[in-house]
Amino acid sequence: MHRKVLVLNSGSSSVKYRLFDLDVERVLVSGVIERIGESSVGPPDGNGEESFADHRQAIAEVMRKLRESGELLDSNELYAIGHRVVHGGEIFRSAVIVDDAVIEAIRAAFPLAPLQNPPNLLGIEVCRELWPGVPQVAVFDTAFHLSMPPHAYRYALPDTFYRDHGIRRYGFHGTSFAYVAKRAAAYLGRPLESCNFIALHLGNGASAVAIKRGRSVDTSMGMTPLAGLIMGTRCGDIDPGVLLYLINSGICSTADLDWLLSRNSGLKGLVGANDMREILRLAAAGDGDACLAVEMYCYAIKKYIGGYLAILGNIDALIFTAGIGEHAAPIRYKVCSGLEPCGIAIDIRKNAVDPNETAELQAVHSRTKILIVPTDEELEIAREAAAVMDARVAGFNG
Ligand code: ADP
Repeated sequence: MHRKVLVLNSGSSSVKYRLFDLDVERVLVSGVIERIGESSVGPPDGNGEESFADHRQAIAEVMRKLRESGELLDSNELYAIGHRVVHGGEIFRSAVIVDDAVIEAIRAAFPLAPLQNPPNLLGIEVCRELWPGVPQVAVFDTAFHLSMPPHAYRYALPDTFYRDHGIRRYGFHGTSFAYVAKRAAAYLGRPLESCNFIALHLGNGASAVAIKRGRSVDTSMGMTPLAGLIMGTRCGDIDPGVLLYLINSGICSTADLDWLLSRNSGLKGLVGANDMREILRLAAAGDGDACLAVEMYCYAIKKYIGGYLAILGNIDALIFTAGIGEHAAPIRYKVCSGLEPCGIAIDIRKNAVDPNETAELQAVHSRTKILIVPTDEELEIAREAAAVMDARVAGFNG
């Protein structure tokens, strides 16, 4: 029987799903259920969209759609359901089969990811309830970064804040980084454990990672996904004194600040738009705000590349991934230009491509390879879920 794995990304108002046949690594069905928890205004609207009262209804609908597709007639055909979980705290270094203790640990990490972990866990609990016979596997965005050493993950605060409150750098986008690092190593024909990379995940959220011998040793996001690079709607690194000033001077309440930092800063704050395509169009037309935003965006990335080069010494590849990393040639060019003394030289013609597979962008004289590696977080979740199950099956048989 083929190993069919369903990947679920259960968010606060949507559930994204993708069914894989992992034996041939093929996507059988994918989709998204949106508008969960929105009050239904009568029948489905003109777009044929329905709203769902809660996650239970939404996930039951996922199963109905899978059955309707003919690709999964019975939930018992599933090898596993892989769930994206944003925060695994300091506990989860890899994917795990869900049991009661895992559920409690995900719940304990709620304060660290109050917007993401609760709906992620809800997805797991609903699946356990609806299909008790199907193994559920949790795959954590933070897991890849648990290899960071204390000097990279600790903040210079009194010890108690770390010991008693878990305040430290965790980092995110770990599933994406794990995927692109493995893929880049395979592309280079090298064991991952021998590779040093700097990888840039540039989507709506954005982060950089320093990978030493295949493992994360530092990353730009922090305890929360607000830190580091400039993002679509988040400002990235900022003097914490600014936040105190805004609160103490009455300019912002904490609720205002929450909104400002998560939703109304970054590219959106600078330009009024957070879609990089639009920003590049505006910049090309000479819009001053857009030009400044592009300059700031690339400058912030460059500073991280410089820092990570200092940490790693030498790298085998600089990796670009996610929407902007994969498709925004002017951003890649601007990030790399000026890095020639560091051994990173981009070829303007190669950079003009918009590939949907791994591609090399470096100039012939570049010491370091520059790669586009399209990310696939869902496939990584499916692979990790299947690997955990394979190990369990091997354990039973051994
Ligand atoms: P998410 O973090 O939501 O998964 P994506 O990885 O899809 O985001 O990246 C979204 C970003 O990628 C948006 O800013 C979008 O403008 C940008 N993007 C996608 N295609 C292009 C393109 N051809 N040129 C420039 N930017 C692009």
